[in-house]
Amino acid sequence: MSVQLPSTCLDWEPCRLCRRQHDTPRPLQIPLQCEPGEFAKKVAQYPANVASETAITRLFGPEYVPGTFILAERLTNPGFLDPGEPDFATFIKEMVLADLNLLASVDIIEEPSGQARSLASDLVLAALEAPVGNGRSLCETITNQEATDIVWRLLKVLIFGDFNEPLYTHQRQVTLGREVALRMIAIDSTSDLHALAVRSVMSGLIGTNVKETTKLVGPSQVLGKTPFPLELETDPGQQAETIIRSLSEHARSGLALDCWEWYRQEVLERPGPVKLVFCTDDYVETVFDLHFLQEQMRRKSDLQVTILPRNGRYGNDACHCDVSALIQHHLFATLHGMQDEGRLTVCKDGPVMGGINGWKLSPAAAALLARADVVVVKGARAFEMLQGLNKPTYFAFNIVRSYTESITGVDAEKAQGAFLRQAPGERRFSGFRVRGQRKIRSDKGREMMLAERTALENCPSVVQQPALCSRCAARRV
Ligand SMILES: [Zn+2]
Repeated sequence: MSVQLPSTCLDWEPCRLCRRQHDTPRPLQIPLQCEPGEFAKKVAQYPANVASETAITRLFGPEYVPGTFILAERLTNPGFLDPGEPDFATFIKEMVLADLNLLASVDIIEEPSGQARSLASDLVLAALEAPVGNGRSLCETITNQEATDIVWRLLKVLIFGDFNEPLYTHQRQVTLGREVALRMIAIDSTSDLHALAVRSVMSGLIGTNVKETTKLVGPSQVLGKTPFPLELETDPGQQAETIIRSLSEHARSGLALDCWEWYRQEVLERPGPVKLVFCTDDYVETVFDLHFLQEQMRRKSDLQVTILPRNGRYGNDACHCDVSALIQHHLFATLHGMQDEGRLTVCKDGPVMGGINGWKLSPAAAALLARADVVVVKGARAFEMLQGLNKPTYFAFNIVRSYTESITGVDAEKAQGAFLRQAPGERRFSGFRVRGQRKIRSDKGREMMLAERTALENCPSVVQQPALCSRCAARRV
């Protein structure tokens, strides 16, 4: 079956923070008299426009720390690192070299010399160790989950003199992924909401093989292989049909953690208006998120939705300009109508990083969350960073990384998904640092390291209302 998609409907003008400005690769020229301490201070002060401490404490409570551990804790190399995981200096240097390789591979910079590479990685490392005030160094003020973003920001300052430099590093992958995703929806436009929720979660795994080949270093090791690879040279229509088949096959075993029944009652069947804030993650999965949201808004006429995407270009994540352009597509005509009616809005003041850090929310994003009845958050990194959010929150993510395995208690090699409720102010996992002492064997006999209390053990459907969610109850450990 071939599905025709008008190609013009997605022509859009990227926002100021996304517009690609690099038509010819530039040489990597690092001034020899760079002062790492100055970079560190610049980066530590970014973003300048953040919500007040009062607003953030009201949202997350006084004990809030975004993420599993502070980056500087790698310096002491404690037991929570994976076996063979690099120490602080090696971790940072590998990340810088991977980023430089990526920039060269997409022709933003020329192939850097060995000397330029080692100069850049030395400078980034020195900046992370430089003091930024209160007697603390930059790496003592940021979490491990943010390391990738901070390293990018330091590199942008170093190479372009500006941390807002838009670097469109994943254009090919995103363009192909979008075509495949839109075709998938055109072929299989189910309106079953649970099926759409599962697809919205699992679509986060589409094309992660391309992400892996760019050797981007994430917050922890990837254990689960992607069940839905994208091939850059293959026809999108053919790939759409292949992925539809493998996705429904993968969906048959369900999600490892599934609070859908709870969501249905709390959002879709709740009488009266409900204000939902939906935080997006990768571009490709956002296409499926829009379909999922469109069907929910059709079903519940007083559901109000605000989408909170990134504010700017961060890897393969969706920016607000991407979301606004996607809503123009004819597959989302209903959603477009709802935008005209004022039931759907796209927030332009989302995170200026490839994750969500409560400490660095813009005033507008913090106010939006404060007004929400329910929040949905996509992505495993955001799940790690938004523990304690003082709203009923549903985290939708895939368990493929070692840290996600530790905090959920779910075998990451199986690449399963989660749609997990977190009650206002609660934490779905605790005691990440003891994972070196709590070891179990996976079905395949691999050693899994678990947090003191995992999401599986803390799943609200198991602990509080077992009748609500039969899937979770069945999986009680
Ligand atoms: Zn943009």
